Amino acid sequence: MTAWEAVIGIETHVELSTKSKMFCGCPADIPDEPNTACCPVCLALPGSLPVPNVKAIEGIVTIGTALGCTINESSLFYRKNYFYPDLPKNYQISQYTFPVCEFGSLIVEVQGEPTVVGITRVHMEEDTGRSTHVGEGGGRIQDAEHTLLDFNRAGVPLVEVVTEPDIRSAEQARAYGAELQRIVLALGVSDAKLEAGSMRFDANVSVRHVGTEELGTRTETKNVNSLRSLQRAIEFEIDRQIAVLEDGGSITQETRHWNEDKGVTLSMRSKEESEDYRYFQDPDLLPLEVSDEWQSLVRESLPELPAAKRARFRAAGVEAETAELLADNLELASLFEAAVSGDTNGKLIGNWLTGEVVAHARRENMLVSDSALTGSHLSDLAEMVEEGKLSSSAAKEVLNAAMDGDGSPRDVADARDLLQMSDAGEIEAAVDTVLAENPDAVAKIAQGDSKPIAFLMGQVMRHTGGKADPSIVQRVLKDKTAGDA
Ligand code: ADP
Ligand code: MG
Ligand code: ZN
Repeated sequence: MTAWEAVIGIETHVELSTKSKMFCGCPADIPDEPNTACCPVCLALPGSLPVPNVKAIEGIVTIGTALGCTINESSLFYRKNYFYPDLPKNYQISQYTFPVCEFGSLIVEVQGEPTVVGITRVHMEEDTGRSTHVGEGGGRIQDAEHTLLDFNRAGVPLVEVVTEPDIRSAEQARAYGAELQRIVLALGVSDAKLEAGSMRFDANVSVRHVGTEELGTRTETKNVNSLRSLQRAIEFEIDRQIAVLEDGGSITQETRHWNEDKGVTLSMRSKEESEDYRYFQDPDLLPLEVSDEWQSLVRESLPELPAAKRARFRAAGVEAETAELLADNLELASLFEAAVSGDTNGKLIGNWLTGEVVAHARRENMLVSDSALTGSHLSDLAEMVEEGKLSSSAAKEVLNAAMDGDGSPRDVADARDLLQMSDAGEIEAAVDTVLAENPDAVAKIAQGDSKPIAFLMGQVMRHTGGKADPSIVQRVLKDKTAGDA
């Protein structure tokens, strides 16, 4: 039996954080009080007409550009027709043929292994309202007594990013979701909060035998709202499909739902085909024109993307995982940038920021940005460690003190008498004294027994009140005893 291979494509919905909704002037920042951000347009009252939100179009063009897409100079709005109580128009304005953006890509890395995920399309649509099913069943429609409808979210601009079926594992899918979220956050077009639903994933999964080309029948697991769930839902679905097929069964193309508590996907409904939606071009909306000039403006004002930022940090000496942590955290990244220039030790500073700095902030229950730590504190500290003036444990103490506002690293190290003896001459004098006091140990070393070196190290440290830089002591000791032999 040949091995199985998973084939995965992901659809991601991203709510844009514009001031107003997609086709009306209602606030897109949804108020808590239900049905207070609605108007005739988003409630689809007769005679109302939609007007596209230019900021939303700028948002989608920004996302498409960051994903390397072709931006269509002219794209079309369609009506996607279906009935659901939280959809006041009984259709959703969406796009079908000619979306705003097509043919992009995103590179994801799993354990240092890069994969190019093709982006099929990025299209513009509007969000639905929200239904709350009330009753014994814990929010499930099946056993609800009644349903509450809130139209505040109806008409909020929604961007859908659709990938090619290029993803081959649940880990890759998670890495894709995480990278897309980072990009959207870096672009500042959405708060991309998975737990709040402003970014959500649909995972399309099928399996096939390794070496075959033809795609298997897929299922689509809808509205997955965390990266961990995305990975778990896909892992479950891959295993389930393989078990069904190995048992001689077949996969039904259907929409499934991820049950977080039980850790399973459950069948929701058979999958609609696009014919079911009776798409037609929205007669209320003209073709959307995005001029070359506008595209260039967006391209020129694109911020640095997360992958470029990570590469920049790695070039400054930071290890891969640390670079990822740094690039994901604005306040750490800006401290790093303020501290590291030219040949300063990026690796050391990166490790402090993602290690001790975060740990101390957590212990003291403060934000790193509220601490007194500055970039020049970090670069001074790194210099002191590199010059052998501070041990690594003393450096941590100084770092904590600098965060607490006790002063600059040099002042703190002075005041607390933490400076190491790093002057080679002083250390040599101490070593000479210790060697003269311990002729037996020196003789043993001369006979090829290296054990007494540790003892002599201890003596030198004691002699210097623990202040000598141990790496220098060790070097001087080895030099001197080798010279004596
Ligand atoms: P829709 O779900 O709206 O019908 P598409 O047919 O374009 O839209 O497919 C949606 C997603 O499903 C895309 O991300 C695509 O890559 C993925 N997909 C399509 N066929 C398969 C398959 N056989 N296995 C896994 N993913 C698939
Ligand atoms: Mg779909
Ligand atoms: Zn409105």
